Parts: sequence; structure tokens; C-alpha cells
Amino acid sequence: MNTTALAEAVVAGAAPAELEHLDVPATYRAAHLRKDEVGLFDQDEPDKDVRRTLHVGEVPMPELAPDEVLIAVMASAINYNTVWSAMFEPVPTFAFLERFGRSDPRHDLPVHVLGSDAAGVVVRTGRAVRRWRVGDRVVTSPAYVDGEDPVVQHDGMLAGDLRAWGFETNFGGLADFAVVKATQLLAKPRHLSWEEAACNMLCASTAYRMLVGERGARMKQGDVVLLWGATGGLGGYGVQLVRNGGGIPVGVVGTPEKAELLRRMGCPHVVDRSQLDGGLGDEKGWRRLGAEVRRLVGEDPAIVFEHTGRETFGASVYVARRGGAVVTCGSSSGYAHEYDNRHLWMKLKRIIGSHGANYQECHEVNRLISLGMVHPTLSAAYPLEGAAEAARAVQLNRHVGKVGVLCLAPAEDLGVEDHALRERVGEDRLRLFRQPL
Ligand code: NAP
Repeated sequence: MNTTALAEAVVAGAAPAELEHLDVPATYRAAHLRKDEVGLFDQDEPDKDVRRTLHVGEVPMPELAPDEVLIAVMASAINYNTVWSAMFEPVPTFAFLERFGRSDPRHDLPVHVLGSDAAGVVVRTGRAVRRWRVGDRVVTSPAYVDGEDPVVQHDGMLAGDLRAWGFETNFGGLADFAVVKATQLLAKPRHLSWEEAACNMLCASTAYRMLVGERGARMKQGDVVLLWGATGGLGGYGVQLVRNGGGIPVGVVGTPEKAELLRRMGCPHVVDRSQLDGGLGDEKGWRRLGAEVRRLVGEDPAIVFEHTGRETFGASVYVARRGGAVVTCGSSSGYAHEYDNRHLWMKLKRIIGSHGANYQECHEVNRLISLGMVHPTLSAAYPLEGAAEAARAVQLNRHVGKVGVLCLAPAEDLGVEDHALRERVGEDRLRLFRQPL
């Protein structure tokens, strides 16, 4: 690793005054895409292997804007958006950077540094930053918005120039350093290691807004909630939030091993889709799923937690109860959905689009994590040099929960400050997703 004095000082736990005096390096190590490789995959290529396009190497350090913070990244995590980016699907993310570059030329580069999650230490603050200081231990929320846009006071996710950091912006978290707006920072949960702290924010906050947020499904006590991909990145937090809020989760997973993990999470109702006869592509399949949910829980779901898209959406609309809601934030299996609209309008159901989470929602979910009420779903941690392998595991759905990446952290399990809380929460809960399936 090409470490710098600043990075070494952060790893050694140096005091803020020392960090302030050390130079910011001119380049840093980062997982990135190269613009000259856009078009590398044929349109019909069956396996757009992200290991071909995701590189790790030195990239130039940007200037810091007045409202930004430079973080020394101890750990990061893979999100599905990194898989999309590295496949150049549905559009190459360099198109986002070019557009952004018209207002902020720093971002329009021949490399795109990816990653929308991070935990680390603040090493520089822009001159307009008031609430954060060098030395603060932080995690990041992914919504990158202009704080001067009036709508941000209402709901940052409605901002016209909203961008997903490390996907629609450059200088993301899969790197030794990252640039974020100060309005993305949250205090690192003190009972977690760097990699446990880094893996939560994007997925946990998205699930929170979908289920609990004012613009989401607004789950009530006793609501039956069907969750697709219930041991995946979003689903692992979704199940926890439903349980905490007094809902009744029905988790769908793809293998008997994941079904077992889901039971260990305390999810009382489990559907293993590999055991459902036939597919979900037509109404017969939707009916079979609906019958299975009724058999398990005795009623239809008030809420369906959707992100799986084309292959499941018809079933989701069908199985939601009269007056129920399908809340969706993604389309892993394809974004052109087909569903039978009669089932929607005749039974007065709603489809709710949801995206990320605003700063307040991120704060709320980070509080739950910091109190030990929601736990990380980290299943593995790769070194930064192995970021492409980590993304490949997510691309092939070979993972459960979240896949972490160690950036400056030299080993796993470092960074815990509140050992008493950690003991109260218990290693069995904190490491549940790390046990072999
Ligand atoms: P993930 O960790 O890969 O988990 C997705 C889960 O979906 C998998 O565990 C898998 O579970 C299930 N799945 C995959 N294909 C399926 C299919 N054809 N039918 C049924 N289940 C299927 O990904 P994630 O982090 O949860 O993200 C999921 C999607 O949401 C991605 O498309 C991502 O881009 C999107 N997303 C959007 C936002 C936003 O703010 N808009 C935020 C986060 C994620 P089983 O195989 O066990 O069933």
C-alpha cells in the first residue's frame, strides 16, 4: 500500500493537531472506473463481469470546496450501485459526471472513484463547515444535495440536483480518502468496528424511509410486511426495522441456507422462493405466493418491500392486501415492470416510489444503530485491493447482508470505543451475518 504520513497518522490514532499539520497527499489509492473503458462490454454480453472494469490504483486528490470535508476512509462497503456502475448499466456513470462537471468541473474526470458508504476520520474541513472538526470519527450518508435549495428544508430527497455520492458524483468511499459535503456526516456508532460502521448507512436509511418515513409506507404496529431479498443489503435492515416497529415480517429468500439465517434473525415467517412451485411470471405464480403468505400469517401483506423489480413486481402488486402499498426503490431484475392494473385499482392499492433517505432519516437510523437497536449485517470484509472481487460477490448474489471493504484499516475489528455497549448488544447479534451459512 502506498501510504502517506497523513494516512499513517490516522491509522495510529494521532491527535487532531497532528493531523492538521500533515500534508494532504497529491494522489490517493481508490477503486475506480476508467472512462476509456466505457463500451468494453457488448450490449448482449451475458456476464458483464465487474472485475474487468473495477480497478484499484492512484487517482488525483481534488480540491476541497468550502462546504466539504476530507475523510481518511478506514472502511467502506459494496452497494449494488457499484455493480451497476461497473457494468456501465443502465447508463455509464461518466454521463452523470459530465453533467455535474458543468457546475463543478472537479467531478468530470477520466476516472470515477466509486462507493456510497464509508466510515473514517475527518482530516480536513472546508472553511464553511461548522459542526465537524478534524479528528471526528464519522460515517457518511449518501445523499449529496445543495443545502441552499429551499426544498432541502422540507425533504432533501426532493432536491432538484440530488445526487447519490460515489455513483452520480466522484470521490466516493471505496478509497483511502473521500470528499463529502458536511451535510452527509453522522457520528460513527461507538460500539462498532470500522467495517461494521461503514456498511450500514445507504441500505439501512433507504429501508427506513421505505418502511417508516413520512413519504414511505408508514408502517404501523401489527402490519404484515412482505420483504423480498430479506437477507440481502436492504432486506437485512428491513426485517430488523419491521420487527422493531411492531410489524410482522414475512421474508422471502432464495436458498434454504438464507432461510435459516432469516430465522436466526428472528423473522417468524419465511418463504424460500426456490421451493415455490413454478415461477412468479404469471398470475398462477402470484396466487401460489399469496396462498403461501396467507398460510403462514393468515392475511395479505399491508406493505410489500420491493427492489427486485421485473421478476417480482407483478406478484408484489397482486399479493398486497386491499388498500395496501407496494414501496419500491429499485429493479435488480429489470426496470420495465409489468403488472395487472386491475389488481391495483380494484383493491385500492398504492405504489410508492422511494429513493435513498434525507439527512434527518439518516440521522434517525444512525441513532437506532448507535443505540444497539439495529445491527450491521456485515458478512465479509475484503481489502481495498480486492474491491472488484467484493463487488463480484454482490453481482453474483453470492453474499448475504453487506460486503465490507477495508481501506486504511489494517485489519478487521478495529475502531471500537464503547466496549460496554458492545457487550450489552452481544457478539452473537453483531456477527450474525458472519457465521457460516
Ligand atoms: P443485494 O444485497 O444484492 O440484495 C438483493 C436481494 O434480492 C438478494 O439477496 C436476493 O435475495 C434478492 N433477489 C435478487 N434477484 C431476485 C429475483 N430475481 N427475484 C427475487 N429476489 C431476488 O442488493 P441490495 O443492496 O439489497 O439492493 C437491491 C436493489 O435495490 C438494487 O437494485 C439496488 O440498486 C437498489 N437500491 C436502491 C436504493 C435507492 O435509494 N433507490 C438504495 C439501495 C438499493 P434471494 O436470492 O435470497 O431471494
